[in-house]
Amino acid sequence: MKTISRHVQLLRMGDKGIFGVGSEQTLLDIELWESIVRVVSDIRKSPFENESDLLNRYNFTNASEAIEFVLNSNAIIHVDEFNESNRYSRNHLYYNYMRATPSVVQRKIESSSVTIIGCGGIGTNLAYYLSTSGVGSITLVDDDVVEVSNLTRQVLFSESDIGLDKAEVVKREILKRNSEVKVSVKRMEITSKDSLSELDRTDLYIVSADSPFQLMDWINQYCVDNHQAYVNIGYVNDISVIGPFYIPNKTSCYKCADITPGHDKKGEIDDLCREINKNFKAATFPGVNGVAASYAFNDVIKYLGGFGDILSANKRVGIHSSKCNFEFQNIIKNPRCKVCAVV
Ligand SMILES: [Zn+2]
Repeated sequence: MKTISRHVQLLRMGDKGIFGVGSEQTLLDIELWESIVRVVSDIRKSPFENESDLLNRYNFTNASEAIEFVLNSNAIIHVDEFNESNRYSRNHLYYNYMRATPSVVQRKIESSSVTIIGCGGIGTNLAYYLSTSGVGSITLVDDDVVEVSNLTRQVLFSESDIGLDKAEVVKREILKRNSEVKVSVKRMEITSKDSLSELDRTDLYIVSADSPFQLMDWINQYCVDNHQAYVNIGYVNDISVIGPFYIPNKTSCYKCADITPGHDKKGEIDDLCREINKNFKAATFPGVNGVAASYAFNDVIKYLGGFGDILSANKRVGIHSSKCNFEFQNIIKNPRCKVCAVV
């Protein structure tokens, strides 16, 4: 049986009426709108099996036009696809709005696995949302302990956690929020591309670590070589960046465009630069930290749940701290890429 989805809203607007399905809002002549109100109200009370059932129900003016409008909108949901008491029901409204079947998306998410490399500002936010959305298995990779300066933005840590292993604290906190998620901890420092082979393969690596400075080169090469999907979220100075979201054999990789400065040249001046840069800390700020994590979360759930477009694929998205504006840098798959073209 089918009914009206909860994200439908009907509002008067002057001498017209709005039929709203999520952000899809249509302004209608009042006669048609009033007929739609009657149809929607009736379907809410009495779900229908197939469309022909509805056509026999009403005899008021515009009934067939109103029915057709409602059926062609994104307003209908199978009654079994929304259960108010289900812990994921609010996410299911969104999957329904995205024209996906909530139960199918949820099953895919629950059978998926991710590895979060770096449990800092971005990693803690993502661990929170991914666990509360029901991702089946989460591996947390970090070698650091919680410090007082982490508390501004690393949302799962408290003052009493200072000195404790970050990954262990994140595990404790996400299990409090969703005990159904399988969480494992890998306390390791990534010291080379080869050290990445210590990690188990999962559906997606979420790279939210900022050191060492060669990390992204290693991750990209390793993931391309091993057909491992990943997304990078980090900082370029005070700009929070997401992407490119790498899907093997489909999207561009981190090296398809020349977007990063070189750092392996030898010589006195380059040695001095390396010495100076060891002291570097990105001017991270909690405001865009949370926005970047949320942006990445949207893409991660779409990827794991198999619906919608992945917005950070084939591009790098930047969010500026001072103005909160978005900047998009296209990274087109390069047939001559030194990393992904030869695989
Ligand atoms: Zn490439």
